[in-house]
Amino acid sequence: MPSRTDSPLQVAIIGAGLGGLAAAVSLRRQGHIVTVYERYDFAGEVGASLSAASNGSRFLEEWGVDVSAAKPVILRQLIMHNWSDGEVQNTYPLGDYKSKFGTDYNNFHRIDIHKQLLKSAFEAPGEGPQCDLKVNHKAINVDPEEGTIQFEDGSQTSADIIVAADGIRSLTRELIDITPNFTMSTSCCYRCIISAEKLRSLDLEDYVSNEAIEYWGGFGINKIVMSPCSNGEVVSCYCFYPASVNNLREDGWNIGASPDQLVETFPDLDPRMKKLMLNAEDIKMWRLYRHDPYPYWVKGKVCLLGDAAHPMMPDQSQGSCMAFEDAGALGLIFQKNFRKDYGVAEGLSLYENLRKPRATRVQEASFRAREDLSERIGWSSSSDRPGKLTIEEVCGYNMREHLTKLVDEAKQASV
Ligand SMILES: Cc1cc2nc3c(=O)[nH]c(=O)nc-3n(C[C@H](O)[C@H](O)[C@H](O)COP(=O)(O)OP(=O)(O)OC[C@H]3O[C@@H](n4cnc5c(N)ncnc54)[C@H](O)[C@@H]3O)c2cc1C
Repeated sequence: MPSRTDSPLQVAIIGAGLGGLAAAVSLRRQGHIVTVYERYDFAGEVGASLSAASNGSRFLEEWGVDVSAAKPVILRQLIMHNWSDGEVQNTYPLGDYKSKFGTDYNNFHRIDIHKQLLKSAFEAPGEGPQCDLKVNHKAINVDPEEGTIQFEDGSQTSADIIVAADGIRSLTRELIDITPNFTMSTSCCYRCIISAEKLRSLDLEDYVSNEAIEYWGGFGINKIVMSPCSNGEVVSCYCFYPASVNNLREDGWNIGASPDQLVETFPDLDPRMKKLMLNAEDIKMWRLYRHDPYPYWVKGKVCLLGDAAHPMMPDQSQGSCMAFEDAGALGLIFQKNFRKDYGVAEGLSLYENLRKPRATRVQEASFRAREDLSERIGWSSSSDRPGKLTIEEVCGYNMREHLTKLVDEAKQASV
């Protein structure tokens, strides 16, 4: 018997990070039956900021995620400071950003937006059946043709689609025969936070009230990126430095450092920023890697999503936004009645065709921006260097139009 055009899919998502949760919400909204499998007993996030430009925020709004409950600071400008004395060298006012691109440029504390995505997937009422979360489920094997996953505890499951959102070190990626080609970057990064209250006591209140992403350096490896989040109660900094300074080889977000270590890494830095660093909390070090784009993202019933598909340097602040776009694409492609136009395999192929070129372009531009701030959207414009990634291309992207074009092309090719 032919399947009804609106019968739901069984979807298994590996990983409950920002990408996996976004995919869960997006597919739930289309009525699909979604289970998310997370290896740890709690899928957490780290204490740092995350800016969601309109191309990511648009999907959060569409899915009904409670964006205001995630306490965003709405960014109004980008500010470039002189490295050694902090003098403002350049500003990029975001101006009528919302009327131009449809949403605010939200800056979240990562934990806050993760919490709201958890709610939207597993708790909140809203369109589509609530998703199911299985913690302590580490995927150890997948069969892409059969659509099955085996877990470390001996259990297994099957699904119509398996979304591999298992992060930069994705095991699923290797299980679908992709050998990642990656190299250690010459850059490492510290992240730290500081409360607005503390900043006020240090006479650094403008770091909160500017409602900006502020930069020091960025031409070469050294760069500080600072922004407020959590309704302006917290300021977060990413501080990039040459890997040769301490030759950090460990992975992960949880390698601690002291304020003195942080300040000593940047001896010639603006004294006001050094004052912040000496009073910063939760300082962690982190190693950067450069991944080349992968040859494909889809095999059988498995598709890669988020950092598993396109790990990128953080220098365009677009990693999560690209994951939100991936998730948005799955929801648009596998909308309730998709079967009247194509099957699951064609849908997954559309997903790769829609997402891979755009994410790869952002991935490459993120690498260029690692040591050249003028490549960062906002500071870049296509007129000063043709082919550059621009804020219009990233934030003004219309995925629906792009998808319609691809579907029409596929139809024409088949007649
Ligand atoms: C310093 C820094 C700053 C950034 N700033 C921004 C920004 O401002 N804006 C922006 O858009 N992006 C930013 N990003 C990028 C963004 O953080 C990532 O792209 C995003 O978090 C990736 O989400 P993910 O769900 O794909 O992967 P992850 O968050 O890594 O989640 C993967 C999940 O899968 C689970 N998992 C792994 N293996 C298995 C397994 N075998 N079985 C079951 N579960 C498994 C993990 O436990 C984890 O919960 C930044 C990144 C960094 C490092």
